[in-house]
Amino acid sequence: MYRRSIEDPAGFWSDIASEFYWKQKWGQEVYSENMDVRNGTISIEWFKGGITNICYNCLDRNVESGIGDKIALYWEGNELGVDGSLTYRQLLERVCQLANYMKDIGVRKGDAVVIYLPMLMELPIAMLACARIGAVHSVVFAGFSAESLAQRIVDCKPKVVLTCNAVMRGSKIIYLKDIVDKALTESTGNGISIDTCLVFENQLAMKREATKWHEGRDVWWQDVVPKYPTTCSVEWVDAEDPLFLLYTSGSTGKPKGVLHTTGGYMIWTATTFKYAFDYKPSDIYWCTADCGWITGHSYVSYGPLLNGATVVVFEGAPNYPDSGRCWDIVDKYNVTIFYTAPTLVRSLMREGDEARNFSNITRICHVKIYVPSDFNCSLTMQYVTRYSRKSLRVLGSVGEPINPSAWRWYYNVVGDSRCPISDTWWQTETGGFMITPLPGAWPQKPGSATFPFFGVQPVIVDEKGTEIEGECSGYLCVKGSWPGAFRTLYGDHERYETTYFKPFPGYYFTGDGCSRDKDGYHWLTGRVDDVINVSGHRIGTAEVESALVSHPQCAEAAVVGVEHEIKGQGIYAFVTLVEGVPYSEELRKSLVNAVRNQIGAFAAPDTIHWAPALPKTRSGKIMRRILRKIASRQLDELGDTSTLAEPAVVDQLIALGNSKI
Ligand code: ATP
Ligand code: MG
Repeated sequence: MYRRSIEDPAGFWSDIASEFYWKQKWGQEVYSENMDVRNGTISIEWFKGGITNICYNCLDRNVESGIGDKIALYWEGNELGVDGSLTYRQLLERVCQLANYMKDIGVRKGDAVVIYLPMLMELPIAMLACARIGAVHSVVFAGFSAESLAQRIVDCKPKVVLTCNAVMRGSKIIYLKDIVDKALTESTGNGISIDTCLVFENQLAMKREATKWHEGRDVWWQDVVPKYPTTCSVEWVDAEDPLFLLYTSGSTGKPKGVLHTTGGYMIWTATTFKYAFDYKPSDIYWCTADCGWITGHSYVSYGPLLNGATVVVFEGAPNYPDSGRCWDIVDKYNVTIFYTAPTLVRSLMREGDEARNFSNITRICHVKIYVPSDFNCSLTMQYVTRYSRKSLRVLGSVGEPINPSAWRWYYNVVGDSRCPISDTWWQTETGGFMITPLPGAWPQKPGSATFPFFGVQPVIVDEKGTEIEGECSGYLCVKGSWPGAFRTLYGDHERYETTYFKPFPGYYFTGDGCSRDKDGYHWLTGRVDDVINVSGHRIGTAEVESALVSHPQCAEAAVVGVEHEIKGQGIYAFVTLVEGVPYSEELRKSLVNAVRNQIGAFAAPDTIHWAPALPKTRSGKIMRRILRKIASRQLDELGDTSTLAEPAVVDQLIALGNSKI
């Protein structure tokens, strides 16, 4: 299939696209592209002239094919025992009601709609309702500050904002409506006034009486939406009409408004989901991502629903009420495919790693194992193993390189050494998986995303932009377009060309570094800006971090380069230790030695900076650009920190840096 997808992309993709519903088939050309800035404006089109609707393909098509009574969404609330579900037919009805309401208040094809909702079923419902009427949704993760939300509202000028009054996340309550109020005031100050703010009353978190209200603008969802008919005609759109706008997570700077269109994105998410997870109709699928990120768009909502899958949507936090929650959910719904991020794997590993704790006990006690009943270890071990997890069949990872030690824990402990791991490399920009294993199709290597998906031609280029063959490492680019590629950055086509197509003319530049081993496997080494040059050796931050995390007492590590008089750049490592392990000089040496032994003396960190926590984006990625500034003490140049999950972490790290650990 891969060979055909490269040799005959038009035939390959039109065969797959024909399995979906098109009101009218695309024109003569399946795709047309200019990916080379030297030949003029960059443009990518797939299935142009084809008339379709992604909501129709997710819902109506499945109901008509006879799976109307199959569960589309299982919803698991923050609190244990609070849950719900919707069949495909019920989901379609709910989507139609909201679509009718939006049409009634004047939302038309091409209008933007901002969705600021937590992981309630109303979030995928809202996305699908927009798609049904041809409106362009822009989901903003409901954890972003009022400023970040306002910034996005000002950028895309929505007709309406959909939100809820409050949400419980773990034991914390978050007053979302207050944040929206503030953002709307700020937007008005910037000349954007919003006529309607539709507010879902999330009774489990907050009653409507306690909610601050803006008469004339705010409308309770429950008061209006259920009154609308449960059928709604479809707005048929061109394959190249915009579907949504989504801002990247902002790890490398100001977030970019990535624009995806309808037809190609639909075919891409459906096909990647089906093959990379080896999807079968009997599967119960759970992806822990929030719909505020691309993963939640492509692999909570569109990809699985296009395949008629049953999807678990989880509102809560993975460590609430304790760190066993994920496996509790897996057993409750008999989840067969589980997809998450390395950051979650590492944090759960930190809480309770059977193998690691056992080795500690045996080391202390030699042969005879005596564990007092109140010994903390015996409790933490059970976070995973107290659940059966027998239903699991395939595991997935996305977001960052997964270091081999976390991979092994995920594989051996979570998956009981029987579930293949799909380490999916992709980006907001790519719409869906680009380099990923196909479960069972080829041997895995822990930490490698393996091989390209159908239709993807990854190339590794050197600094001059020349393709390098065979075993090598360099800049990861992609040759030729694929259906799920983003078509522009909203309102800034120039930035689109400059960021992605000018660095290496003729290719799409991913911004990531990559090496290819002798067997052709791809190893993502992190963002190219993160590559450190120590005395002429180019070292990927991912490699050093991986060596540090393989140390039994290191939970997480983030490595950056700092100026060094002799070596050009030196390695500066921020290290978070396993729960309860104290920092010591001896441990520092042993961490440095772990890197020496695994990579070589040239990669040994010059500094180890103890970090109780690391600054992360709200999608859980480490923000190295901020760490670089802390490491080089350029504290007045920290830049945009609005997308950080916990800004206080930065001050903590600065203070610890001052105390020269
Ligand atoms: P921004 O572009 O705003 O800096 P971001 O790149 O973090 O933010 P996303 O599009 O969410 O935003 O993330 C894509 C990036 O995540 C990839 O470019 C890559 O660096 C990293 N990534 C995702 N999946 C993997 C994976 N399986 N292995 C290695 N890296 C991955
Ligand atoms: Mg990016």
